[in-house]
Amino acid sequence: MQDFITALSDEFENIYFIEGDRKGDYPYSHSLLIGNLLIDTGISGIRLRKVQKQFQINTVVLSHWHEDHISGNNLFPSSNFICHIKDRIPIEDIEQMFPYYKVEGTNAGEEFKALFDIIGMENTKISRFIEDNEVIDIDDSLKLKVIHTPGHTAGHCGFYEVNSKIAFFGDIDLTRFPYYATIDSNLMEYEKSIDKLKDLDAEIAVLGHRNPVYGKNNIRSELDNFKSVIFKRDERILSNLSEEKSIRPIDLKGKNLIYRRYSYENFEIISELVMIENHFEKFLKTGLITMKNNGYILS
Ligand SMILES: [Zn+2]
Repeated sequence: MQDFITALSDEFENIYFIEGDRKGDYPYSHSLLIGNLLIDTGISGIRLRKVQKQFQINTVVLSHWHEDHISGNNLFPSSNFICHIKDRIPIEDIEQMFPYYKVEGTNAGEEFKALFDIIGMENTKISRFIEDNEVIDIDDSLKLKVIHTPGHTAGHCGFYEVNSKIAFFGDIDLTRFPYYATIDSNLMEYEKSIDKLKDLDAEIAVLGHRNPVYGKNNIRSELDNFKSVIFKRDERILSNLSEEKSIRPIDLKGKNLIYRRYSYENFEIISELVMIENHFEKFLKTGLITMKNNGYILS
């Protein structure tokens, strides 16, 4: 067995955590293999080829449309691809990712294009769409339940194998950096989705960009920690608002309110602004701010 492939259960054979290259850091991500079904293809081309030598994969399920989770799709020309219908467009037409990230015609867009060439992005035809609560029968003992968890993207899904209690949380990834910066992101949905995963009876959570978390209580407290990062951002953004001076999200652009330090400045300043807009939308819906002169003041 390759050292990046780990069996997750003694009782249930054929469930493997597959570690992405560079420990699953972007532009890679981790995968879960359940029987002949693989969740996500971002582990790296080299690793995927090694997995293919060892296992027969018939179906590839995509947790969501982001490039770091689908870059290896082209290595599965005869597999069926499935995902939530709300993530269909940028998977079937990767050019659409540029407007989705709001980087069309920007330097960030150019940098993105270069990365796409390096990781070998191609369009993928989806053969079937999955829905919340649907159960995918893998074999007699493996049943994979779909948990629609929108917010990161509109069609983001988690998965839960009901017998082994092993789950895949995708990019509700329990890192220190919740991300909701594409045009189909929604912060309030994201928070609801985190709560939805808390309701699962999961014993192991496999994550997009971090090692698996073991134990029901650990998983629940890590989900709480993840959510608390969002609340800290709420506070940081609100501290820039007042009851008098009207402020727009664009006025807070490039001020490191979410990224403490910009590593890919062109891209991250755009991402940060989209996330700030998401916070404003939440503040407005929950009555914390009020519109005034094209901007917002504290209520
Ligand atoms: Zn993602």
